[in-house]
Amino acid sequence: MGDWRDRAVCVAGLGVSGRAAARVLAERGARVTVVEARDDDALRDRAERLRADAGVTVRLGDGDTLPAGTDLVVTSPGWRPDVPLLSAAATAGIEIIGEVELAWRLAHGTRSEARDAVRSGGSSPLEQQGGAGGQGAAPWLALTGTNGKTTAVRMLACMLTAAGHRAVAVGNVGTPIVEAVLDKYDVLAVELSSYQLHWSSTVAPYAAAVLNVAPDHIDWHGSFEAYAADKGRIYAPGTVAIVNADDPVSTRLGGPGAKGFTLGTPAPGQLGVVEDLLVDRAFVPDPRREAVELAELSDVRPYAPHNVANALAAAALARAYGVPPEAVREGLRAFTPDPHRIAHVANVDGVDYVDDSKATNPHAAAASLASCRSAVWIAGGLLKGADVDDLVRACADRLRGVVLLGADRARIAESLARHAPDVPVVDVPDTDTGAMDRVVSAAAGLARPGDTVLLAPAGASFDMFASYGARGDAFAAAVRRLAESR
Ligand code: ADP
Repeated sequence: MGDWRDRAVCVAGLGVSGRAAARVLAERGARVTVVEARDDDALRDRAERLRADAGVTVRLGDGDTLPAGTDLVVTSPGWRPDVPLLSAAATAGIEIIGEVELAWRLAHGTRSEARDAVRSGGSSPLEQQGGAGGQGAAPWLALTGTNGKTTAVRMLACMLTAAGHRAVAVGNVGTPIVEAVLDKYDVLAVELSSYQLHWSSTVAPYAAAVLNVAPDHIDWHGSFEAYAADKGRIYAPGTVAIVNADDPVSTRLGGPGAKGFTLGTPAPGQLGVVEDLLVDRAFVPDPRREAVELAELSDVRPYAPHNVANALAAAALARAYGVPPEAVREGLRAFTPDPHRIAHVANVDGVDYVDDSKATNPHAAAASLASCRSAVWIAGGLLKGADVDDLVRACADRLRGVVLLGADRARIAESLARHAPDVPVVDVPDTDTGAMDRVVSAAAGLARPGDTVLLAPAGASFDMFASYGARGDAFAAAVRRLAESR
């Protein structure tokens, strides 16, 4: 939908989403220039392929200058709004959108068509979006949050599939969304980051949830309030709003008409937990009626309170779309957790070793530590300006010991000295390839049978590793060497 012919589009960034956006736009007749600040052999290969197959112009080694004649910028999520190219576009009054907004317009029409559709009202959002089993573009069930997005969205895709819908998890995960919207799906489970939401203006999901909001990416958004406000953009007029009733920011963003989920006993209009069951009272507003049973807590794997919240968020979105309770349960059972998210590596001498390398901010590490009774915590990396005092205070009483590595370990050490002075701390200043063996051996020295050695660093990995995945792999390999040495 929409006329892209002869539009002069600048795509900022030659990453996965930038390449996908450039191809789709070029196929629709737009004149596309991709700009990328970096320049190396791998990028030159990518650029050449894009030029040859799609006729896209690619400029490497200059990410600052806006190509002359540009009338629309499609930016990649990593680009901060204040970088020179985006500032220049904003000053010149040129519209800036992200890949998610582009995908929405490709499926649902251009900006003015989208506005007209919202204004015309009349039909329900589900009918407007093609509806369950209806004609037209697949509706979006969207989810954002500081932590747990990928897990919840993948759980949701499993529930939708179990209900017989052609569904896929997209957005900040898996297939680029500009490609998925052009495929034949009934419904999309869409993970949205705060960056993607910042550059979305007409996206109107059928139902949407904010899982949690805690300080992260403040440097990009400018302030916590700006970050939270960007998360809140997931709720468009007409969207079925779902909130985490245990999270004050999520609750505030959803507004008074929202449906909630909670780790406690659910009120009418909510999903929650009763004894060891996940139940739904969202669709039985009469408090005298029994709640609908969705699944057992043992269906949530790996079991941890924060993962129950993820399952409830996914179930709330699925239920809003009409997925029956049996399919919620079946979907949860079919779900396979992604690697490096509270992944059990081994039990050595009665101690469990768990890889949660994806805990790249303090809020995630706090959730992870809260699921252990007694932990030797492996922490460190790049804190991205985040504060760890709340985290250290909240988990101090369950720490058997702490092993610190990476760039910002001194900041965590200072916080531990203030709030948990009796907890033994081992500092590993090394950054060589053997560092993780020293970390794991120090952790083994502190642990007692029944404890968990938990890699939940609270920081990003780029100070020492290529990715959180590489950090988790290094940990698992070191644990296996420890096991072999016993
Ligand atoms: P995201 O896609 O938002 O990064 P993931 O599902 O990949 O989320 O999980 C990332 C990490 O966040 C996990 O390894 C875990 O430490 C933590 N986490 C997951 N779910 C939650 C939650 N609901 N609340 C707090 N922390 C969570």
